[in-house]
Amino acid sequence: ARTPFIAGNWKMNLDHLQAIAFVQKLAWSLADAKHDFADAEVAVFPPFTDLRSVQTLVVADTLPVAYGAQDVSAHDSGAYTGEISGAFLAQLGCRYVIIGHSERRTLHHETDADVNRKVLAAQRHGIVPVLCVGETAEDLEAHGASAVPVAQLRAALEGVDGSKELVIAYEPVWAIGSGQAATPAQAEQVAAALRGVVAEVFDDETAKATRILYGGSVKAANIAAFMREPNVDGALVGGASLDIDEFSSIARFS
Ligand code: 13P
Repeated sequence: ARTPFIAGNWKMNLDHLQAIAFVQKLAWSLADAKHDFADAEVAVFPPFTDLRSVQTLVVADTLPVAYGAQDVSAHDSGAYTGEISGAFLAQLGCRYVIIGHSERRTLHHETDADVNRKVLAAQRHGIVPVLCVGETAEDLEAHGASAVPVAQLRAALEGVDGSKELVIAYEPVWAIGSGQAATPAQAEQVAAALRGVVAEVFDDETAKATRILYGGSVKAANIAAFMREPNVDGALVGGASLDIDEFSSIARFS
C-alpha cells in the first residue's frame, strides 16, 4: 500500500527565521492532533535559503517532518550562476525536490527536456523527484484533461531509472491559486492515466508503488474527497500550506 503524502510547497514565502518558527509550530500541531506518520507522510518545501535552518531544526529535535527543495539544477557543478546542485541539496538532507512546477515551466520557460534532465539530476543524488505535470485551461478545452499531463510525464521519464522512487503531482494550471480545485473525479481520471504511463514505461509493480498527488486549491474543506479516490495518494498544497492549522488539518484529511 502507498503511504499518503501531504506536501506543502511554500513557493517564495517564509524567510529562514519564519521557517524555523513555522516548522516548530507545525510539528507541535501535528503532535497535538496525535498525527500518525504511518497514516500520512508530511513534507514541507521551503525556499533554498531556509533549508539549512530547517535541517538543523528537524535533525536536532527529530521532528517527523520531511523536507525538500522547490527546484534543482540539471547540472552537478560548474559555471551555472544562480543554480543549485542536487549534491548540495542531498548534503542538506533533502529527501525530495519539486521538479517541473508550472510556475517554473511558465515563468522560467522550462521545457519538457529541462524537466527530464532535472529528474535525472535528482536521481543521481539520491533525491526523490516530486514531478509536476498539468494542463492549462486552453489545453483542457482543446485536448481534455489527460493529454498534456500524460505527454509531460512521458517526456520527463526519458532514460529514468524506474527502480528509484518517484512521486508525481498532477496540478492543473487553472486550479493553482484560483480557489477552483478540480473535482475529485477529474483528479482521479488523470491520476489513473498517469499511473498507466508509469506501468507502460516501467512495469505494473512500479506503477502500483508510485505515489500520485493532486495539487491546485487543496484545502482542509476538500482534501477528504480527493483522498477517497483510489489513484490519488496525497496532495501538493500551495497557499493552504502556509497556515499551520489548515495544513495540519489537511494532513489529517479533515
Ligand atoms: P495552491 O494550493 O495555492 O492552489 O497551489 C498549488 C501549487 O501550486 C502547489 O505546488
